[in-house]
Formats: sequence, C-alpha cells, structure tokens
Amino acid sequence: MLRIDSLSKRYPTGDMALKGVTLEVPDGQVMALIGPSGAGKSTLIRCINRLVEPTSGSVWLNRVDLTRLNTRELRQARRKIGMIFQEYALVERLTVMENILSGQLGYVNFWQSWFRKFPQATLDEAFRLLDRVGLSDFPDKRADALSGGQRQRVGIARALLQNPELLLVDEPTASLDPKTSRQIMRLINELAAERGLSVIINIHDVPLAQMFAQRIVGLRFGEVVYDGPPNRLTPSV
Ligand code: ADP
Ligand code: ADP
Repeated sequence: MLRIDSLSKRYPTGDMALKGVTLEVPDGQVMALIGPSGAGKSTLIRCINRLVEPTSGSVWLNRVDLTRLNTRELRQARRKIGMIFQEYALVERLTVMENILSGQLGYVNFWQSWFRKFPQATLDEAFRLLDRVGLSDFPDKRADALSGGQRQRVGIARALLQNPELLLVDEPTASLDPKTSRQIMRLINELAAERGLSVIINIHDVPLAQMFAQRIVGLRFGEVVYDGPPNRLTPSV
C-alpha cells in the first residue's frame, strides 16, 4: 500500500506545485491521476520516487517513509517502484528480451555485463513475463523494429521483472492509437490485480481512465479536487 501524507512541493521559482496532497492507494488498485496541464501530476509522480524532492509531507510505501531515506536506502527502495513511460525508454539496438532484462542491471552497466550470466530464476521469470505481455513470438526482435504497442509491452515486462510493489505509469498511451491504448490499459489493469500492485497512472485521456481505473483522482492547482469512482466523475470537476 502507498500512503501519501500532506505532500507539498514548492519549486525554487516559487511555484507551489503540490499543496498538501493526501492519498492512499491500496494493493491491487489502479488509480488514474487526471487534471489540466500544470495541475501537479508529474510533480506528484516524481515526488513519490524522489526524482523531485518534496518540500514537506511523507510518502509511505508499505512500512517505509521514502522521504526519509538516504541515497543508498533510496536506491534500494526504488527497486520496489516500477516505472513505465510514455516514450517507452527502450534501448533501440537491443532485442525484446535484452530490454526486459536491462532493468535488472541499469542502462549503463548492462553493456558491460551482458555476458554475465543471469540467474536461471531471473531468465525463467523474464520468459514468463514475455509470454504474459503477449510477446512470446518476439524475444529476439530488435526494439527499433517493434510497433508502439509492442514497445509498451516490453516496457511493462521490464518494469514487472523487478517485482515491484508499486507501479508509476506516466502517460502510457499518449503515443498509441485508441485500440492499442485500450489493450495496454487492460493489460496494466489485469497485471495489477494478479500481482496485488498499487498503480498510479498519469493519464491524459479521461474516458480511457474511466474505462480502466478503479479510482480517479483529479488534481488542480496542486490540490485534489476529485477522489472517487470513475462513474461519478463529472465534466465540471
Ligand atoms: P494538458 O494541458 O496537460 O494537455 P488538458 O488541460 O488538455 O491537459 O486536460 C486533459 C483532459 O482532462 C481534458 O479532456 C480535460 O477536460 C480533462 N480534465 C482536466 N482537468 C480535469 C479535472 N480536474 N477533472 C476532470 N477532468 C479534467
Ligand atoms: P502536470 O504534470 O499536471 O502538467 P506539473 O507537475 O508538471 O503539472 O507542474 C505543476 C506546477 O509546477 C506548474 O505550475 C509548473 O509550472 C510547475 N513546475 C513544474 N516543474 C517545475 C520546475 N522544474 N521548476 C519550477 N516549476 C515547475
């Protein structure tokens, strides 16, 4: 479970991007974060894994307050936080399977240690995930030869291979056509349920969020203006 408590962020420019946001995301819940540009969505996601340092408040992932960790502890804790990006962030010249495994070592180390043998359990799990995201026919296909939907499937498998407790997903469908977007959202939704993952999705497409998220949080000017089920969201929020 993720618990965000009175989280605020004031940028050095003086912008109050978050003003005391409090939220809980239970295990297995997919929460969509919506709101107009500048509402604070990216800041909130980035404060969770501390790519942006919050000004005050706390972020509890299970029993750990992420805001109190030192650099070394944070590096450990981040392994429990899977990230999925709009632009996939794949290594173009690597294959599907290499990309899935690349998260294990980090982008740079990967090249140096490619010939190092992965533990068999990791390889087994990588192949299971490959299958689960629907790419079992393409382990050796290069990332630059994949469609957008396939690329996002690789991104999902890579994030899940870490066995995270929390998934942070930033505009996962922004570069995809509507049908592929629905498939990707359905996949994320099913995986969250199967694995009991808390998921926060920063998503632009409100109807898509309403279709696949169990809960919608609307942000505006750094504050929560809606928090509830998708079907009660009105355009006035
Ligand atoms: P951006 O500037 O980041 O592209 P928009 O302002 O275009 O974002 O908003 C994206 C979508 O979300 C629009 O369809 C808008 O109507 C809807 N929206 C924006 N803010 C909210 C909110 N607080 N609650 C519900 N829907 C919202
Ligand atoms: P969203 O993701 O909803 O579009 P952001 O989190 O990007 O919103 O931005 C929230 C507010 O914080 C905006 O007023 C934006 O201008 C400001 N902001 C975002 N990043 C920075 C930054 N690095 N420095 C200063 N202000 C920022």
